[in-house]
Amino acid sequence: MVVIAGSRETGDPFMTDVLKVIDPNAEGEIAYALVERLYPICRSITGNGVRRSLRVLREIIPLAMREVISNTPVFDWTVPDEWNIRDAYIMNEAGERVVDFRKSNLHVLNYSVPVNRMMSLAELRPHLFTIPEAPRWIPYRTSYYQKDWGFCLAQQQLDRLKDGEYHVYIDSTLHPGHLTYGEFRIQGQTDDEVLISCHSCHPSLCNDNLSGMVIAARMALLLQGTSPRYSYRFVWVPGTIGSITWLALNEAILPQIKHGLVLSCLGDPGKFTYKRSRRGDAEIDRTVEHVLAHSGNEFNILDFAPYGYDERQYCSPGINLPVGCFMRTPNGCYPEYHTSADDLSLVTPTALGESLVQLLRVIRVLEENRPYLNLNPTCEPQLGRRGLYRQMGGAKDRAMLEMAMLWVLNFSDGEHDLLDIAVRSGIPFEQISQATQSLREAGLLDWPENYTTETQRIPGEK
Ligand code: ZN
Repeated sequence: MVVIAGSRETGDPFMTDVLKVIDPNAEGEIAYALVERLYPICRSITGNGVRRSLRVLREIIPLAMREVISNTPVFDWTVPDEWNIRDAYIMNEAGERVVDFRKSNLHVLNYSVPVNRMMSLAELRPHLFTIPEAPRWIPYRTSYYQKDWGFCLAQQQLDRLKDGEYHVYIDSTLHPGHLTYGEFRIQGQTDDEVLISCHSCHPSLCNDNLSGMVIAARMALLLQGTSPRYSYRFVWVPGTIGSITWLALNEAILPQIKHGLVLSCLGDPGKFTYKRSRRGDAEIDRTVEHVLAHSGNEFNILDFAPYGYDERQYCSPGINLPVGCFMRTPNGCYPEYHTSADDLSLVTPTALGESLVQLLRVIRVLEENRPYLNLNPTCEPQLGRRGLYRQMGGAKDRAMLEMAMLWVLNFSDGEHDLLDIAVRSGIPFEQISQATQSLREAGLLDWPENYTTETQRIPGEK
């Protein structure tokens, strides 16, 4: 385990060492292996598939599995009955399973009620779903809130079905039970929280769902070994109903949430995409945009829209948390989205590793960002006399750090935080933070006295 103590006393940069010690390739391979393990499990918004998946993640971090009883009212919604499935098929007269749940769990319309009857192909057709324009792929379809049953199959499979009688069998149950979600919290030096949320309800789909679930778990593990300023809360919730349920049960702690991210679609090789929070200019928005701008990669920034993942709930007008959505290629923008082609070949260890590194950079900025006060604000202090230049390495680094020190000194008036200074100067946050450390050690900077106590409080301190 990586143990890093960034503390108020030493002012050590928090994430620098984590970012130095992790190997993105190795992290990517670990994340990919987890995706492989989770891939075969049939998940849904409730049921044993979710529990099995959370148990796999619990091998990495000791997350809590929360069970919320069916019919619990959650804002305008109600926790649905629990769905479980054991087997399903369409069998022809020769006794062959022409559509088989054991080959792909996408074959069953998710949340199908049980069925066990003989019917003609004509009777069966209204219950069959295909993608004619992608004839080899199975679509992913659900019917959570309307009792129905159906099968999803490749158009090619459907084209091969001959007229005749078929045995249609779905061995599922839909009964009062529970909605299950995972939660893991790391206590930081303050109770102010960063919320990391991902959905955990899709069955065998890799990019949309599994990539976010495993990256969240690896992030949690890496942060667990640190002594962060913020507390971190990770939730693995079924899409929509899960985040609504979590919000309804946790209204009291919402004021503690200072920043948040929904994670999804982090394993495809596409460029990074950040969807801003509803607020649009929250610290998390400015942070992610700054990190991506200095990532050396192409990226997209999207404004908030009330469509997409669980940011819709976190950013509903009565909640309005500063929560954005971090993705590579967004939902609906890649052809494999919500089909059987969102499989183990769409996600790569490299893409997963890169996504994790960018997220750790975001966390680093959140951890280290704050306003400072220049203790020698009347004209520039004499830096050479304080030995600041000698600490630095190559000529290029030196020039950049000297420049960063001038920016930090000039704008550390208690009004601007380090991220403001990084954005305004065009200098990466990393250099701004490094310059800040040097200036603090030289006694030229301190925290403003009026800087809020909550973010300064450390355990045991009155
Ligand atoms: Zn989806």
